[in-house]
Amino acid sequence: MPSDIVVVGAGVSGLTTALLLARTHKYNVTVIAKHMPGDYDIEYASPWAGANYLPVAQRGTPSETYERNTWPELARLASELPEAGVHFQDTVIYRRAKDVGTPTGDWFAELIKADAWFKEVVPNFRALSQSELPAGVDGGTSFTSVCINTALYLPWLASQCLKHGVVVRRAILSHILEAANLHHSGKRADLIVNCTGLSSLRLGGVEDTTLYPARGQIVLVRNDPQVMASISGTDDGGDEATYIMHRAAGGGCILGGCLQKDNWESQVDPNLAIRIMKRCIELCPKLVPEGKGIEALSIIRHGVGLRPMRKGGPRVEREVIDGVPVVHNYGHGGYGYQTSYGAAQAAVALVEEASQQPRARL
Ligand code: FAD
Repeated sequence: MPSDIVVVGAGVSGLTTALLLARTHKYNVTVIAKHMPGDYDIEYASPWAGANYLPVAQRGTPSETYERNTWPELARLASELPEAGVHFQDTVIYRRAKDVGTPTGDWFAELIKADAWFKEVVPNFRALSQSELPAGVDGGTSFTSVCINTALYLPWLASQCLKHGVVVRRAILSHILEAANLHHSGKRADLIVNCTGLSSLRLGGVEDTTLYPARGQIVLVRNDPQVMASISGTDDGGDEATYIMHRAAGGGCILGGCLQKDNWESQVDPNLAIRIMKRCIELCPKLVPEGKGIEALSIIRHGVGLRPMRKGGPRVEREVIDGVPVVHNYGHGGYGYQTSYGAAQAAVALVEEASQQPRARL
């Protein structure tokens, strides 16, 4: 039975998996990572996310299960634990027919359906009437979602891990099996959980070449439009996007964005930033006082993050590498928060499965 586990990665995937493992009281868990909550780095996707719950998984895929199973916990946090930095927020999603087949249109394909699979999952789902649609919009839905203040939520997850006995340490690995020597007990770990996101592309022993980045650029502002809003595309390019979400507990309002596949650029593109701000005001005029433009936005910071996309969807799988059981949980693209609990539950099930196998000799 694996009892000493090292989780590699302290993004939303690693911390959620470590927390669910620790809550079983069956495992001694060490989390090791190059980046921790509080850091902002291009190799660390989690702080840059909005983050909200806008399901995009195709019906019948594992990602649908992950998203479906994540909602109840996010809703519980929003209802019962204000200290987690998650709150309910109503959202509208607009659809333009002309966006079909563009990168952003494809990203939104499930989200914009009037009979979306998640209509029974989230509260207050409904199709918008014609009279509620702005000019140039062909359809839309609204429902109650959540928005997560990642600047509060990631440290909260880390605190929950500590409360449950998890030991958290910094380390940089060049090979996944190095983790086996980093358990806080000083003993060799029985099992490694790999939650290294996009870095699994280059991490020795994993080198998953189906991973690729989808660059996202955001502007964080103090303005509060009181609603979340997104639209299926823009007239500024097929890989640009427009979305607005207001974070809980003074976290500011995220204006996005873009979905630039295979773009590794870590620096802010100032022209794109201006397009994002203009489009967001167009989408939601209540962002600024009537008659005002982007000069009325109070900017906290600009940001760039790389979504860990993976051809074929996220990898939540078990394998044995040189005799060491490894459970992978990475490749959650632009949906790592909204899949977090479902994917971590699946990863914990794989750890349990590994525990049924004869103990590996390390
Ligand atoms: P990461 O957060 O990248 O964490 C990886 C961890 O592994 C880090 O701790 C890192 O230091 C560690 N690591 C990597 N390599 C090594 C190594 N060699 N040695 C040691 N440690 C290592 N998702 C949503 O659900 N909703 C949203 O609204 C949303 N909006 C987004 C907006 C933007 C602009 C972006 C960029 C992403 C958004 N996402 C959203 C997606 C979400 O942010 C990601 O899917 C998620 O953060 C991935 O988390 P992760 O833990 O898998 O990876």
